[in-house]
Amino acid sequence: MTDIDTLAARIRAELDAEEAVAQAATWADEAARWHVWRGKESYERPFVIIDSLDDGVTAVSAESSDTESVAEHIARQDPATVLARVARDRRLLDLLLAEEHGFGWTEQCYGEPCLCGRDERVAAYLAVLAEGYEERP
Ligand SMILES: [Zn+2]
Repeated sequence: MTDIDTLAARIRAELDAEEAVAQAATWADEAARWHVWRGKESYERPFVIIDSLDDGVTAVSAESSDTESVAEHIARQDPATVLARVARDRRLLDLLLAEEHGFGWTEQCYGEPCLCGRDERVAAYLAVLAEGYEERP
């Protein structure tokens, strides 16, 4: 297994995990977009995350940061957004892996190891893509 295969497998596993968590966080595809409901300041829980079918997801009561900012951040990372990002990253991964070997119009790279630089470039691109999924606790 090459470094590229290893990186691609790790990214695919992370994308699968990310997708599973996002899908589990919503009870229906139609409810996957979230927004912040702002109640009166006198309410005990003035910031509530509401899904796109108007069901409550969770009340937000931040411990050390601004509650409204935390609520907005949660809403912006809703399941629909995460699932779209996962789909986009899968397409990007496929495009990067589809990059061909070659030195120009006529010469192809059939070297093992790769001599044209394609494998080095793709490994670098995949490393950047993997960075977005590495900082999980
Ligand atoms: Zn090559």
